[in-house]
Amino acid sequence: MSPTDSDATFAAMRAALMASYAGALATSRLSPLEALECMAAALGTIYREVADAHIDPQGCPCGWQPNELLDIVALEQSIAANAVKDEDATLFDLRSMLPVGHG
Ligand SMILES: [Zn+2]
Repeated sequence: MSPTDSDATFAAMRAALMASYAGALATSRLSPLEALECMAAALGTIYREVADAHIDPQGCPCGWQPNELLDIVALEQSIAANAVKDEDATLFDLRSMLPVGHG
């Protein structure tokens, strides 16, 4: 994926998630954090579904092999690395986190 593709994909996904977040706030009694937790829970179930499709011998033939532990750590790191304020980065010790790739 080129940086341009990645930026465009990120922008599109962010816009879709922001719309879902705004919709959830407008149509539920969820607090802001509860709405974000709901979004994170949805992402977790999407991971599970995608991983299962790649574990299934009849599933996706692209060759990606899920590694549940490392994949979920990578997802958690993506949230933390992008959510934390720069001045608080040491609280999360992001430098000690495992390197993340496409696997
Ligand atoms: Zn695949």
